[in-house]
Amino acid sequence: MAISERFLQSGPMPSGSVEGIGAKEKEPINNICVMKFGGTSVGSAEAIERVAGIVEAYRRNGNPIVVVVSAMSGVTEELIKVCDNIAVQNNQGAIELINNLQERHFSTCLQLNMPSLWKLDLQGELNSLFDQLREEANRDGLMLDGRRDSILSFGERLSAKIVAARLGLLAEPVDASIIIETNDKFGDAAPNMKRTRKNVREAIPNLIRRGRIPVITGFIGATPDGRRTTLGRGGSDYTASILGWALGSREVFIWTDVDGVYSGDPRKDPTAVLIPEMSFVEADKVARNGGKVLCPKTLEPFLGLNGDAKTVVWVKNTFNPDSQGTRISHSSQL
Ligand code: ASP
Ligand code: MG
Repeated sequence: MAISERFLQSGPMPSGSVEGIGAKEKEPINNICVMKFGGTSVGSAEAIERVAGIVEAYRRNGNPIVVVVSAMSGVTEELIKVCDNIAVQNNQGAIELINNLQERHFSTCLQLNMPSLWKLDLQGELNSLFDQLREEANRDGLMLDGRRDSILSFGERLSAKIVAARLGLLAEPVDASIIIETNDKFGDAAPNMKRTRKNVREAIPNLIRRGRIPVITGFIGATPDGRRTTLGRGGSDYTASILGWALGSREVFIWTDVDGVYSGDPRKDPTAVLIPEMSFVEADKVARNGGKVLCPKTLEPFLGLNGDAKTVVWVKNTFNPDSQGTRISHSSQL
């Protein structure tokens, strides 16, 4: 089976074990940029058009790129409600929520600027994921944590399909469950960094060498025996930094809906100012102490490198891409 086929998001569980990736690690590719787009950045057709503009502009300069996506805004919350409904045996309520989600994803698909034929294909793929989700919801049994993570994984799997379809034939949706290997702490799973790095290096450069744009699901992973896990709320940022670390990327962009990291909450504190430069240590403190822009673990992969990390993490606004953003690196100081 071609490696790209193994990555297609078919089937309810990660297809093939992570060992099954198989391809040999080749020469590393320098310069792979990781761009992560958060929930609001993929939250509507209009936002996804912006994402496509940003990715296409970057690619036009010939730069290799990996895209990471969150679920569309609010979708993870709805999926949590789906789980809560199932937990109290209100399967009808769960199915209604799922049907509403299907409608939202379909109408986004219809509004995208792409050929009708692609829309039809995309609808087919979304349909199949929604069928799997309904099946999962209708299954008897308790709402255990593993089942919850499996249901939550649909948000990112759906958005990756949509964004990849919009980016066109070169883009390929990748289910991170077959590269991000984690323990079984469902809801807050910790990646096995060594195994994950090996998986990433075997799989992603090969796709890029073939001219593809991997569109990878944020937030999700899987245990070595293929049970789906999630990395904690907001975990797509963490997925992006894990990938950037594993690929030795020079740049990781966290595209969000504010101009960067602020000294306080700009919505509540009028004196809050944008911080143009931060060190990993400083940004890590902010992320762990309740700063909303980055998920708490985002900087973790770079902190252990003791000054050796060549990666720069940028926080930028999808809706104001010309604004300078926040630059986070080893050397930068507050
Ligand atoms: N969709 C997940 C969440 O809402 C992960 C993310 O958005 O980063 O928590
Ligand atoms: Mg976030």
